[in-house]
Amino acid sequence: MEIKRNVVLVKYTTFHIGGKAKYFFVAKNKDEIIKAIEWAKDKNLPFFILGGGSNLLVSDKGYRGLVIKFGEPLSLYVLKGLDWAVGIPGTIQGAVYGNAGAFGKSMKDAVKSVEVFDIKTNKIKIFKNKDCKFSYRDSIFKRNKNLIIISVKIKTSPKANAFRRAGEYLNYKKNTQPLNFASAGSVFKNPPGASAGELIERCGLKGKKIGNVKISEKHANFIVNLGGGKARDVKKLIKIIKTRVKKKFKIDLTEEIQFL
Ligand SMILES: Cc1cc2nc3c(=O)[nH]c(=O)nc-3n(C[C@H](O)[C@H](O)[C@H](O)COP(=O)(O)OP(=O)(O)OC[C@H]3O[C@@H](n4cnc5c(N)ncnc54)[C@H](O)[C@@H]3O)c2cc1C
Repeated sequence: MEIKRNVVLVKYTTFHIGGKAKYFFVAKNKDEIIKAIEWAKDKNLPFFILGGGSNLLVSDKGYRGLVIKFGEPLSLYVLKGLDWAVGIPGTIQGAVYGNAGAFGKSMKDAVKSVEVFDIKTNKIKIFKNKDCKFSYRDSIFKRNKNLIIISVKIKTSPKANAFRRAGEYLNYKKNTQPLNFASAGSVFKNPPGASAGELIERCGLKGKKIGNVKISEKHANFIVNLGGGKARDVKKLIKIIKTRVKKKFKIDLTEEIQFL
């Protein structure tokens, strides 16, 4: 097993932000990810499963455990029935973890079953859709860190006009989201009945910049990295947004992005 040391995580996240992982391993299959987890457990080291790093803010200080990169690109499924997922970066495993969604659909509608490795029992289990306890940008996998997603079966099948529809969805995203900048997608979940982006915009925060990171002028729920941005500055912007939205609308925004 080729475990690398002191790997800079910048290039493994779509935010292009993050310090070094003390240990880093790319797992190509089920056996390799299980071996890597065992390696970390053996050494009493924490470990973290990294998919495409597209919903993630990695600390500038990095991670003192083992980062295991693993997963299958979600894009492979766009023409197999997940046309709504076009333009969502990352892996299908990461998409299941956060119940990723767009255009009124989410992984909840698509998943048939999930093959899971339980690090507590060292056993492989099959979770049916309802066992995944999907809800808005949430699943059992977010709440139970012992569950590692190995593979995913989807129940949707290719649709006749999938290619055209995916093109339309992608155009919509290009027109409304700052896709030419490094980011982690939407920073906050939409609170019930409201749009996080709209609330942030109405606080006058579009374009607010700290260091080399900025609240996008195109879509206020995106924080973009202008180049060499720091996680600490993203966190400062997040704090400002939460405080201002709370003050103006009495609404608590919660982060959609995950932190390492
Ligand atoms: C430009 C852009 C557009 C986006 N648009 C959307 C959108 O329309 N809709 C949407 O929902 N999201 C969107 N996102 C966010 C992101 O792409 C999704 O949340 C994506 O599904 C994350 O997958 P990932 O593989 O990158 O996960 P990562 O960011 O690598 O990881 C996210 C979390 O999942 C966990 N995880 C990953 N793999 C596993 C595994 N095998 N087992 C257990 N846990 C695991 C990680 O530990 C981490 O906590 C967008 C992001 C960007 C940058």
